[in-house]
Amino acid sequence: MGIEIIPVGGYSEIGRNCTAVKIDDEIVILDLGLHMEHYIEHSDSDDIVDMSSKTLMNIGAVPDIRILDNVKAKTVAICISHAHLDHVGATPFLANKFNCPVYGSQFTIEVLKTTIKDEKIDLKNKLVAKKENSRFKVSKNVEVEFINVTHSTPHTVMIAIHTKYGVVLYGNDYKIDNYPTLGNKTNIKRLKELKVKVFIVDCLYSTNPTKTPSESIAKQMLKEILLNSNNKKNSIFVTTFSSHIARIKAVKEIGRKMGRTVVFLGRSLSKYAFSAESAGVTSFSDVTIVKYSNKVKKFLSKIKDPEKYLFVVTGHQGEPKATLSKIVNENYFNFKSGDIVIFSCQIIPVKVNYNNRRILEDSLKQKHVRIFRDIHVSGHASKEDQREVFAIIKPEHIIPVHGDLPRMQAMKELALEEGFSEDKIHFLKNGDVLKI
Ligand SMILES: [Zn+2]
Repeated sequence: MGIEIIPVGGYSEIGRNCTAVKIDDEIVILDLGLHMEHYIEHSDSDDIVDMSSKTLMNIGAVPDIRILDNVKAKTVAICISHAHLDHVGATPFLANKFNCPVYGSQFTIEVLKTTIKDEKIDLKNKLVAKKENSRFKVSKNVEVEFINVTHSTPHTVMIAIHTKYGVVLYGNDYKIDNYPTLGNKTNIKRLKELKVKVFIVDCLYSTNPTKTPSESIAKQMLKEILLNSNNKKNSIFVTTFSSHIARIKAVKEIGRKMGRTVVFLGRSLSKYAFSAESAGVTSFSDVTIVKYSNKVKKFLSKIKDPEKYLFVVTGHQGEPKATLSKIVNENYFNFKSGDIVIFSCQIIPVKVNYNNRRILEDSLKQKHVRIFRDIHVSGHASKEDQREVFAIIKPEHIIPVHGDLPRMQAMKELALEEGFSEDKIHFLKNGDVLKI
C-alpha cells in the first residue's frame, strides 16, 4: 500500500513519455507519447508498415506498457499533459489496452479526436476534455487536477494527483513565461498552495544555464523580419511547428498587418488549426487553408501575385515529404531571387534533421532565396526556470524525466544547490519501481 512511481517511458531517454502512478491498488497513467525518431524511422519506410502495438513497443516507438502486466492494480485513468506527440502520440495505439477514460485539456482532446479520425483508428476509451484548473474524481479515492502552465502548445497542464498519501505532481513539459502571447501565465498561485510529495519534472533543458525567453520575444523577432519595408516585392514563406498555435497566430496577425492574405499549406497545419478552433483557443476562419499537397501545387500555380500573400507551410525540419520540401524541390513554386523563407523553429538535434535541413537550405540558396533560421524560443524550462519552480513548489521528492543522464545530473546539481537532500532526488530508468 502507498504510492509507487513506475516509469514506463521517457526515463533516462528522450521521448515516449509515460509514467504510471500506483496508489494502493489503482493506477493513473500520465502521458502516452511517441519516441519520434523511432516512430518516424519505422513509419516512413516504403514497405507496408506494421503499426501493431506489439511491433511499436518492440522497436521502442511507444512506451512498453508490458512493464505493467505484472502489477496487480487496476488502471482507472489515462491523463495527458498536452498535445505534443511525444506525450499524446501513442494514445491511439495503446489506450485500448486499458479499460478507462482518457482525460486531457480541451485542445489536447481535440487533437486526439482529429488524429484518430484522420487515421481511422477505433478507440473504445471515453475521451474526456477537462478545463484547465479543474479538479475531478477518477475513482472513489483518487482525484486529478489540471493546473495551467505555459509551453509551446495551448492548454498545457501540470497534472496533480491527489491521494490520501499526498500529492503527486507531474510537470512534463512547461516553462515560466510571464508574457505569453496566447493563453494565461503559469498558475503559480495554485502551484504554491499544493503540498507536493513527489514532483516528476521535465529536465530536458537542465543543462541550459539561463531562463528561457518569453514567446513574446519570438513574436518580436518575426515582426522585425516581416514588417521590414524592403520585403514588399518578395514572396515570403514561414515554417514552424504546426502545434505551436501561439506562433502561428502571431504570424497570421503580422501577415494581416502587412496587408497580405495569409495561407496555411499542409496537412498537419490544417489539423492543429482545426483543433484550435474546436477547442476555442483561437479562430483561423480568416485564413485560407490548403490541406493536401496535390492541391497545394495547383493552388500555388494559380497565384499571379505571390507578393500579396504570406504562406505558412509545414516542413520546418526539412522533412523530404513535407510541403516546404515539395514546394522547393518539385517546383510547386517559382522562387525569385530575394524571396524569403523563415524557419521559426530550432533544428531538433537528431542527425537526420541536420541532413534534411542542409539539403533543403542548399536548394533554397541555389535559387537565391534569403533564409532566416532559428527565429524561435523554446517551450521548455531552462535551469533558472527550474530553480524558480523548485522554490514555488518545494516538493518532498524530485524525479527528473524527459532527459538522459547528463540532463538528470544537471537537475540534481541544481536541486542540491537549492538545499534538497540527495536521498530525495531519484534517478529512474524505465521499468524501475519507486516506493514512496
Ligand atoms: Zn511538449
